[in-house]
Amino acid sequence: MTDFTLTTDADGVATITWDVPGKSMNVMSLAGFAELNGLMDQALADAGVKGIILTSGKKDFAGGMDLNVIAKMKDDGGAQGIFDGVMMMHGVMRKIERAGMDAKTLKGGKPVVAALPGTALGIGLELPLSCHRIIAADNPKAKIGLPEIMVGIFPGAGGTTRLVRKLGAMIAAPFLLEGKLSDPKAAKLAGIVDEVVAPEDLLARAKEWILAAKDTDLVKPWDQKGYKMPGGAPYHPAGFMTFVGASAMVHGKTMGVYPAAKALLSAVYEGALVPFDTALKIEARWFTSVLMNPSSGAMIRSLFINKEALDKGAVRPEAPDQSVQKVGIIGAGMMGAGIAYVSANAGIEVVLIDAAQEAADKGKGYSEGLLDKGMQRKKVTAEKKAEVLARITATTDYAALAGCDLIVEAVFEDMAVKADVTRKVEEAVGPDCIFATNTSTLPISDLARASQRPDQFIGIHFFSPVDKMMLVEIIRGQQTGDRAVAKALDFVRQIRKTPIVVNDARFFYANRCIIPYINEGIRMVAEGVEPALIENAAKLVGMPLGPLQLVDETSIDLGVKIAKATRAAMGDAYPDGAVDKVLFAMADQGRLGKKANAGFYAYDAAGKRLGLWDGLAAAWPAAKAQPDLAEVQHRLLFAQVLEAVRALEDGVLMDIREGDVGAILGWGFAPWSGGPLSWLDMIGAPRAVEICDALAETHGARFAAPALLRDMSAKGQQFYTRFAPQPKAA
Ligand code: NAD
Repeated sequence: MTDFTLTTDADGVATITWDVPGKSMNVMSLAGFAELNGLMDQALADAGVKGIILTSGKKDFAGGMDLNVIAKMKDDGGAQGIFDGVMMMHGVMRKIERAGMDAKTLKGGKPVVAALPGTALGIGLELPLSCHRIIAADNPKAKIGLPEIMVGIFPGAGGTTRLVRKLGAMIAAPFLLEGKLSDPKAAKLAGIVDEVVAPEDLLARAKEWILAAKDTDLVKPWDQKGYKMPGGAPYHPAGFMTFVGASAMVHGKTMGVYPAAKALLSAVYEGALVPFDTALKIEARWFTSVLMNPSSGAMIRSLFINKEALDKGAVRPEAPDQSVQKVGIIGAGMMGAGIAYVSANAGIEVVLIDAAQEAADKGKGYSEGLLDKGMQRKKVTAEKKAEVLARITATTDYAALAGCDLIVEAVFEDMAVKADVTRKVEEAVGPDCIFATNTSTLPISDLARASQRPDQFIGIHFFSPVDKMMLVEIIRGQQTGDRAVAKALDFVRQIRKTPIVVNDARFFYANRCIIPYINEGIRMVAEGVEPALIENAAKLVGMPLGPLQLVDETSIDLGVKIAKATRAAMGDAYPDGAVDKVLFAMADQGRLGKKANAGFYAYDAAGKRLGLWDGLAAAWPAAKAQPDLAEVQHRLLFAQVLEAVRALEDGVLMDIREGDVGAILGWGFAPWSGGPLSWLDMIGAPRAVEICDALAETHGARFAAPALLRDMSAKGQQFYTRFAPQPKAA
């Protein structure tokens, strides 16, 4: 396998081209690094070579490091293996940066230019940062940046140290701490790339720069005498302010639960106090420390490796390609309108039906609004807007559904209304059409009774807002066939979301776990636990929203509706009477949540959240003795993770990867943990059982350890060993 090739032209300009065989995007492997190193040596040693262009044979430069390699480095060599591997990379990049120049005079080096045709992410930008100039093609679709923080690590191949020294800590902060990506022009504006040229001029301009480069053009600011960090180093008054601010900002955003963000700041701060090569070593040590933290391993596993496996159809049954050509969406309300937008945006023809033409048009208008917003942000062109809207036919006429190969029903949450729609649709579509319902609470198998073809009937459960939420839950009813599952998965792939496939049961998977979280929060209000303690405990453990804010967002009347339906279904076994007292009292006072500008929180007239509503204390006075933080956190976390375990025990979840990925993407379950099952593996089944026993004793049977967890505890097992996903047969 050859990832890199070297050619030299008649003018003595060598081009090293990165083109990993058999992949649409270049990713860096350890073998690739060794190859690049060998070719760099060759070009630097060749007296006939005046300078080197590093570019790509593909439309993009590179997508980053192969994270499977990082995981393997850790498994094979532990901390030392990671550190040695990273220092090897630093060695290669430092060699490129020095390019054979004399160490004292800094003269005689060979210019190295990175010529980026398109996207350059992670190591795909760290490598160019070690070159003497970065020239990017003016390709508005290209993304340039360092997104490592998004999967729980940070740029550890010199990217952190070089970007901070190039831009200063303040300007580099969003790119490092938030993984902000830019198109080439924005990257030039920020100072990340040096030049943007027309795509057809990319290589010619790189060559021109090489041939004109002087010795001084090759010396990086940090290798020059008297270098000062832009914006000031930490001991400089301006720098001091930056670092104090950054530290507060990071803590505010991460609540201290993301080891990568803390380590990144430490690498930047400590690195700023020492010479460049020592800073690289510090960066490597912090990077190693992050990789050795179980959180980063779990995040890489769930957010990168397993998410990608699910996106690529890891759980797809064997069936011919089921890509959707024409989708019919029934119900143009909040969900239907969103589903129409994401479908049309993915190039699928859409028929959007509602009971009245006005409602159907309003649903289509939602797409227009989103596209207009995109145009304002210069992300969407007028042509693109026209194309997407032209794909959506808004009508009341079921005859327009002829030729649809998939239907997604999103009408009112009412069994009879849905049954009526199912019958009407089946009269209008061909016999192969798959029918999906977006119900959030009604059993798929029950809804399928209205269908002539229950094997072609399935649940495709979107989350709100559809255009933002990345998870789609696919629900197999008792009679759902494989082709329907394949169809749903192919559809989700087309609209670029992540699917999980679960079996039919009350609330499926995501809502099944999130409702007990909300309920536990409300139950604590009833018990007199300080609402601020509840909310902050949730946030301090990495939940994006506290349970009370969450119920305000999803609306309290929806909570009431779900509670009533659940009580009706469960009868005497219904466990949440204490919760309902609070919920119903709130609803009775018209405090229906964010949409009513009044809920557990107070809001101003413009809908801005002000703080917890002070009327809570009067209705549910704070108890004298407040529980400690850990106990509140355990209640909130175990309310969720025990449902995930039970879903696995019951066979609702069929693959633990889906349990973890679905939790993070579906309801933002503490992403640092890698998901509920990864978190249980992290603390270990014996400790989890111990916490369950204590919680069950004080708070009731809902915290009783499931038999599966007890069994795993007794056998010393972990979820990721006991339920290790089987690789798909090739
Ligand atoms: P909505 O009230 O905003 O929209 C429902 C639409 O269906 C309305 O425009 C209504 O006019 C139309 N409709 C009703 N009966 C019809 C019929 N017989 N023929 C054609 N159109 C009809 O509701 P929504 O929030 O979009 O929810 C729709 C479905 O999606 C429900 O089943 C709901 O449980 C589910 N869901 C909702 C959410 C959410 O967050 N709102 C999330 C996931 C799933």
